Amino acid sequence: MKARRKIAIVEDNPDNRELVRYMLAESYEVIEYDSGQRALEEVRESRPDLILLDISLPEMDGPEILARMRADRELAALPVIALTAHAMNGDREKYLALGFNDYVTKPVLDEGALLRKIEQWLGTEGKGDEDPGGR
Ligand code: MN
Repeated sequence: MKARRKIAIVEDNPDNRELVRYMLAESYEVIEYDSGQRALEEVRESRPDLILLDISLPEMDGPEILARMRADRELAALPVIALTAHAMNGDREKYLALGFNDYVTKPVLDEGALLRKIEQWLGTEGKGDEDPGGR
């Protein structure tokens, strides 16, 4: 059996965190951060394979956290999926332009869709130029 891969959830709302953890716990090791600051401090140690990053966080928002990760050589290639509370037209383009690999709208209701999206990005890790996201 291959080692379980690790997903980090960065989300300040405990109910949302719990819901996503519940959906992922069977397939992945899940680590949770309730603030972007903590996530930035700890992901170099915890080494997640993918991050689910809430857009709206206190102190430092998702795009700011992402920018700092992308500027950090060790974290730059980490797949990061945005969690957004308000779905709007053009969101996908907006978040991809900011450098997110993908995005998921909250509340997260479709467990299958979430897992497929995660698998898509985990599957491409380390394969160089392949980009199934169409960017
Ligand atoms: Mn939030």
